[in-house]
Amino acid sequence: MNLASGFLNRVSYASVYKAASVSALCCPACGEPQEDELQALQPCAHLACVYDQEAQEFTYKSEDFKQRITLSGEVFSGELSSKMLSRLGYADELLALDLTRAGCWSRQLFAFNFNVNVD
Ligand SMILES: [Zn+2]
Repeated sequence: MNLASGFLNRVSYASVYKAASVSALCCPACGEPQEDELQALQPCAHLACVYDQEAQEFTYKSEDFKQRITLSGEVFSGELSSKMLSRLGYADELLALDLTRAGCWSRQLFAFNFNVNVD
């Protein structure tokens, strides 16, 4: 039994504020913008999920992320936190960015998986 496991499984978390509503969030692993100029999602291989904190629903899930949800049997409600993401077996390879844009009151959480190999 490992009582410390709850502390070892820690997903990194940061709040991000974009002063310009049109500037896209870029992947911290590869630098790719995650939206095109029409703000349509263009996920790179690192993006694990996008969660709308106001609507409280996923707007994007990678295949790996979908599998983890199915295997874990977790049900998500309310705001998505790094703690909830760590329950899917993610640790510090996952970086959750809670994005707020100027002029928008909605917040979106983008989670990037640094453990994905891109060829
Ligand atoms: Zn990337």
